Parts: sequence; C-alpha cells; structure tokens
Amino acid sequence: MSQSVLLLPGDGIGPEIVAEADKVLRKVNDTFDLNLDFDTALVGGAAIDATGGPLPKETLDKARKADAILLGAVGGPKWDHLEMALRPEKGLLGLRSGLELFANLRPAILYPQLASASSLKPEVVSGLDILIVRELTGGIYFGQPRGERVLENGERQGFNTYVYSESEIRRIGRVAFEAARQRNGKLCSVDKANVLEVTVLWREVMNELARDYPEVELSHMYVDNAAMQLVRAPKQFDVIVTGNMFGDILSDEAAMLTGSIGMLPSAALNSEKQGMYEPCHGSAPDIAGQGIANPLATILSVAMMLRYSLKAEEAACAIEAAVSSVLDQGLRTADIMSADGRRVSTREMGEAVLAAL
Ligand code: NAD
Repeated sequence: MSQSVLLLPGDGIGPEIVAEADKVLRKVNDTFDLNLDFDTALVGGAAIDATGGPLPKETLDKARKADAILLGAVGGPKWDHLEMALRPEKGLLGLRSGLELFANLRPAILYPQLASASSLKPEVVSGLDILIVRELTGGIYFGQPRGERVLENGERQGFNTYVYSESEIRRIGRVAFEAARQRNGKLCSVDKANVLEVTVLWREVMNELARDYPEVELSHMYVDNAAMQLVRAPKQFDVIVTGNMFGDILSDEAAMLTGSIGMLPSAALNSEKQGMYEPCHGSAPDIAGQGIANPLATILSVAMMLRYSLKAEEAACAIEAAVSSVLDQGLRTADIMSADGRRVSTREMGEAVLAAL
C-alpha cells in the first residue's frame, strides 16, 4: 500500500532546503521500494500571497490525508506588518492544532565532526545524543482563562492558566517511554513539582506509566536544575520529557549545545503517528535566495519522518549515515564552516548526500 508525503516548502530558505530534502526522499523511495506518493501545498507567507490566508483549506485538507508532512519554514519581514491572526506563523499553529500534533520530538545530536562548533568544551559535548519530548498542544500556552484585565484598584494584570489533564500527560508520557525504550532506556521527566500543582500531577502520572515500562529507568528533575545540568553535564541525559513551556526553553538550550541550528531536525506527532517534520530553524530571510542555507536539518527531518511515520527504519539510518559521511568528507555550508572544511552551497550539500546514499 502506498503512503503519502505532503511537502510544504513555505518561505525564505524553505523552498531551497525542501528541494534538497525532496531529492533525498525520492532517492530512498526508489532504493528501498517505499511506494511513496508526493504532493505539494502552500503555507505561510507563500499562501498569504496566493490566497490571502496562511493556511488555505486545501492545504489543511491535504495535510489531514497525508501520512507525513515535510515543512521548510514560514515567515519573513514581508508579512511582519500583518495582524497576528493573519501572520505566516498562524499557518504552522493551525497545522499543529488541526492535526493534534501533541508530541514534539527534538533530538540534539552533536556530530563529532562538528564538535568545535559548540560553545561548550568538546569533552563536555562530544558524543552528545539527547532526545527532548515536548508536549506541544497544551499547558500554559493554551490554558484558559488568559488575557489582561484591570483590577479594582486600577492596576493592570496579565494572566495565563497552566493546566494539564491526566490524559494529556499520559499520552505524551507514552511517546517518551516508547522512545526511551528504543534508545538507551533512560527517561528524565522535567517538572516544577516543588511549586506547581499541575506538575505534581505530571509527576504522579509519569510514575504510574513507569509500571508499564519496567525496562525504562525513570527519573525526575526540577526544571531549574535541568537547565543547569544541560550545560554542566548534558551527556547524563538520554530522553527528556516535559510540558510545553519548559520544553520550548530547554529544547532551544539543548539545540545550542550542538552549536549549529542548521543541523537540527524535529518531528511533531499525533496519536496515529501521523507527523509533521521540519528543521528547528526558521526561514532565515537574511540568507534566502543566496543558495547558502544548510539543508541538513531538513534532510535529517526526512530521516525522522521515515523512522516515526513511514516505518522505514533502514532508509532513515541510510540518510543519517550519508549525512555523517558528507561531514567526514569535510563538506560544510557557511553556518558550520571550519578552518579545514570545504565550503559548499545548499545544492552541492544536497547532491553530496545523494551521492553518499
Ligand atoms: P532563523 O532560524 O530563521 O534564523 C536565525 C539565524 O540562523 C539567521 O542568521 C539565519 O541565517 C541562520 N540560519 C537559520 N537556518 C539556517 C540554515 N539552514 N542554514 C544556515 N543558516 C541558517 O530565525 P529568525 O531570524 O529569528 O526568524 C526568521 C523568520 O523565521 C521569522 O519570520 C520567524 O517568525 C520565522 N520562524 C519560523 C519558524 C518555523 O517555520 N518553524 C521557526 C522559527 C522562526
């Protein structure tokens, strides 16, 4: 049976990097007989220009039917003057909520060839391989009530609600335990259970889930300590699971341990394992159209797509090995350039990965 992939190039460097990832996906489709169908649609600023809105109904319909989605990036100065509801980023949020993509997987892997790109000492980060599992559709970013009000004494007050139901915690917990089971069997749940009741419940539910996964070693850490441990001794972590806001912050911190935003893929999954895959970086308007963007985060997002949504582990590993091989060859886009590297363009990097495959 065929599986379908929807490509959403988006804005800025999005079309340039998705073009390279597309070639790689088509190549493994042929090599591994994956029987994939491809389609493309508009999202973000490109969709605003063509249709007036960041997430046309046609795009959402196609996304709902697809087994997996590959997104480049959205946004750019051209659309910054628009009101919030019409901004390109709303297209992204609409896809996340429309498809109930509650589980955000963000690996932070340091390729040994790029150890000098990290701001931490090589011995602290070399061999780093962490997976952060962040809850993406709940918590304080979505809790009601929220807003700004004026108190009786005339003072203004802003407020948000930090809320998680048991089922929301349980479903993200299961994703994290499953991931830990497939990796090194260590899961650290990050909360603030010494202060916030909502995360006391979070901790209770994680402990309940642990009974179903005896092979996974569960630990708990307060978020302030986790932020510190990530820069002190990041290799102590295997999988980290946490809520939306803590995950937002910790995953960016972990990303920087690897030194290069152009190398980091991500996945957002729903309960059917349907997923949207995208690089962690944005549309990089400052370098768009110059052919110098690093396509590797997007190509590695394709590997995640093959692993998590398309059940093609062998093809995923082949892509990851090909990326490692081009780094071994010393090929570097500008963002990861080193003294002994050979500088290549976006297209040359994509072609090199194809050749290594
Ligand atoms: P950014 O990630 O686009 O860029 C930050 C810096 O990293 C820039 O200097 C850029 O040139 C560089 N960079 C990013 N990706 C790169 C790559 N693949 N290769 C080489 N260099 C790369 O973040 P920003 O500048 O804060 O945001 C630009 C636009 O992207 C904004 O409109 C923002 O809203 C949007 N954005 C979109 C997403 C998304 O689509 N998921 C995520 C973040 C930001």
